Amino acid sequence: MPIEKILIANRGEIALRIHRACHEMGIKTVAVHSTADAEAKHVRLADEAICIGPPPAAQSYLNIPAIISAAEISHADAIHPGYGFLSENEKFATIVEDHKIIWIGPKPEHIGIMGDKVEAKRTAGALGLPLVPGSDGAVEDAEEALRIAETIGYPVMVKARSGGGGRGMKLVREADSLATLMSQARAEAKSAFGDDTVYLEKYLGNPRHIEFQIFGDGRGEAIHLGERDCSLQRRHQKVLEEAPSPAITVEQRDHMGGIVAKAMADRGYRGAGTIEFLYENGEFYFIEMNTRLQVEHPVTEMVTGIDLVREQIMIADGHPLSCKQEEVRFHGHAIECRINAEDPRSFAPSPGKVTHYHPAGGMHVRVDSGLYSGYVVPPYYDSMVAKLIVYGSNRERCLMRLRRALEEMVIDGVKNTIPLHQALLADPEFLAGEYTIKWLEEWLARQPEAPAAAE
Ligand code: ADP
Repeated sequence: MPIEKILIANRGEIALRIHRACHEMGIKTVAVHSTADAEAKHVRLADEAICIGPPPAAQSYLNIPAIISAAEISHADAIHPGYGFLSENEKFATIVEDHKIIWIGPKPEHIGIMGDKVEAKRTAGALGLPLVPGSDGAVEDAEEALRIAETIGYPVMVKARSGGGGRGMKLVREADSLATLMSQARAEAKSAFGDDTVYLEKYLGNPRHIEFQIFGDGRGEAIHLGERDCSLQRRHQKVLEEAPSPAITVEQRDHMGGIVAKAMADRGYRGAGTIEFLYENGEFYFIEMNTRLQVEHPVTEMVTGIDLVREQIMIADGHPLSCKQEEVRFHGHAIECRINAEDPRSFAPSPGKVTHYHPAGGMHVRVDSGLYSGYVVPPYYDSMVAKLIVYGSNRERCLMRLRRALEEMVIDGVKNTIPLHQALLADPEFLAGEYTIKWLEEWLARQPEAPAAAE
């Protein structure tokens, strides 16, 4: 029996994105929401909506019994978790499958392996992916850390096994500070993820962040859909993404993409996944794999013409991959700007009522957002409120169109990061595609009236 109804276990723009794919496939949707999101756009558009708890995510969007009950009550055939929240929760995926509900995601054991970053690196190494030099597994104590850091050479990064969102990471420049920073990283990881296990990695001085989108059918076939360059980051969080990367050649894409697709095929991976690398001096170094849809997936959709959410749903429903590797065609260039309800200089969150909203439009312009005039941005969740994605036949045209689209876009009532993106689009280095993961923070520190951004 094909999937007829999908419960969307998420909120905001991604819930709406999934809803749209479902309706284009003739599939009904069930929105689940907290009391803070009763007026959200995806809740209004869904065929059914079920309130699953109060505003704090722990009691609503992370509330497994409430979500499973909502799926049972609404007779949903499948659950799509979006990104964040429960999307990479092995236990949740297992419970969903135990309830005979289709999990639109990878096999639970693959979520488990890749969620453990130590295990993920070991697996990636065994599958032939190049790794950032570092400890072989978890590091027990400062003594062992000192020994390993000595062999890989300073600076090193202490990273949390269960880390995510750039948290639980410490840069160590010399041996004297290693013990202290390692215990700080442990404490941070313990409180954020309930796991204080850490590992060591060589700190790469000035890399780019380049990731590959892959899809597997779960039965030994896998393809890649090229790379995304996500080097524009603030505090290890992505701000703007583009495809293709301005830094790599078609040959490099084919080569690295081929390696990751083969690794995923060998593993019997199912669904969408992203393999993240740091890229420096012509070499790729695996850092982690995300076993879900990414925020930045639309840039891949723009350059390949493939609907990634539709592909996820089809695979979960038992269909083969919609195309073979040689049928995947890459056209032009796409850039995504993450627009956050934040002060564009201090980055302080700015929740509240959107008094006026006007999305950009026109040829090759896409806005993924749950905003509307009168909508109140709640203070409880991530501050990203819109994604502006623009396509052009080449990078230059894409940049011209993006500039025009940013000019058109209006979000009044809450501070937002449109002015940040506009300022970036005036910078010659950014325009030339010459930036690494450090570039944005240095750029922010150089901006005149940016005291808080330079902290
Ligand atoms: P998370 O899961 O918390 O996002 P990642 O391992 O994906 O952690 O790393 C996030 C970001 O941190 C990377 O995109 C990069 O900017 C930086 N980073 C991670 N590891 C290293 C490293 N070994 N050297 C330099 N920068 C790193």
